[in-house]
Amino acid sequence: MKTVSILGATGSIGQNTIDLIARAPQAYRVVALTGGRNVAQLASDARRLRAEVAVIADEDALDDLRALLDGSGIEAAAGRHALLEAAARPADWVMSGIVGSAGLEPGLQALRHGRTLALANKESLVCAGPLLLAEAQRHGTTVLPVDSEHSAIFQALVGEDMAAVERIVITASGGAFRDWPLDKLKKATLAEASSHPNWAMGQRITIDSASLFNKAMEVIETKEFFGISPDRIEVVIHPESLIHALVGFHDGALMAHVGAPDMRHAIGYALNWPDRRALPVERVDLLRTGTLSFRDPDETRHPALRLAREVMQAGGLNGAAFTAAKEQALDGFIAGEIGFLAMAEVVEEVLTRMVPEGIAAMDTTLDAVLGVDDRARQIARDVAAEMR
Ligand code: NDP
Repeated sequence: MKTVSILGATGSIGQNTIDLIARAPQAYRVVALTGGRNVAQLASDARRLRAEVAVIADEDALDDLRALLDGSGIEAAAGRHALLEAAARPADWVMSGIVGSAGLEPGLQALRHGRTLALANKESLVCAGPLLLAEAQRHGTTVLPVDSEHSAIFQALVGEDMAAVERIVITASGGAFRDWPLDKLKKATLAEASSHPNWAMGQRITIDSASLFNKAMEVIETKEFFGISPDRIEVVIHPESLIHALVGFHDGALMAHVGAPDMRHAIGYALNWPDRRALPVERVDLLRTGTLSFRDPDETRHPALRLAREVMQAGGLNGAAFTAAKEQALDGFIAGEIGFLAMAEVVEEVLTRMVPEGIAAMDTTLDAVLGVDDRARQIARDVAAEMR
């Protein structure tokens, strides 16, 4: 029986993970489930899966969680320390499914205690890739990619030598606005940005898909995870979302990973790794698929990809500043304070204003990352206020 914990259990990744685990209750014992604020979902899943402990990040929700778990024998806890304690509990496999840089410390905590970490939280790699991977190495444990593109690359590399890899191509659906002209994009509303043509995901990543900030983070994630230089990472728009990534080798072979747009594939692959087991995902029927199309991303409409390349070139803690500025800008868009295109303007301005602070020369220690994160959010708030 495999013991598992799910950080971010109440979110889209968390719920897909729970779906797989609940289908084979005899194969898993659930240790910890964590949520941010959704105490009703957390308590209901904790009861259904007979978790050992349920942790809610919002401390004000502890009384509600206790009441909902009353008589179940499940421990209830709240707050940051409880979250870190849950991440450290003995478990064979931990899903890092919290959204944003809030997922970094719980993920690190799991690695420091030798847990295998299934990493959906791409922000961890963007803001602190070297730190996260060094912790995994130090504690002899494994980080498994859960982002569909990175799971695809990981699978294409099984049995291969990274030295034989010439390039990695990651695909992007293009998100909600892939065919929108620039002047229409300026007026894009929250509701329009929050619906994805192919994938059902949390609201934040859905908006990041529309702005291509999600793809920008994935390019950095690819560099960090696979140790490949940025000039060998390509992005193509592939509206059908059937090919998730391709790995090109020195002999000219291009290995593509094809699958239905369903996160349970990548989650299930990480859950069963290194084995493959049957998964409840739709099978791709090539005869009914029709044409697969590919095109260049338009960086004039979506500067996020250019910003990602600048961040990788600058190095140091630019990734931490990028992630935090993007999160703050996204909060501003969700709150109706800034427009859709202003998100990229805020991020670019934060990166410019942080150059004199020497972030490019900073080492990736946890304290430094958290310090840059704080500062970038503060500058992003100032920049957004100046724009209003
Ligand atoms: P959701 O918004 O659906 O869920 C986020 C989860 O994080 C929820 O459980 C939420 O709790 C919790 N959470 C939010 N803020 C905090 C906090 N400050 N402290 C602790 N917990 C918190 O996000 P997704 O599931 O869509 O995404 C999760 C991660 O996976 C992201 O990094 C995303 O980029 C990545 N990812 C997601 C994919 C998808 O298909 N959704 C695909 C590939 C990667 P609550 O809801 O209770 O407030």
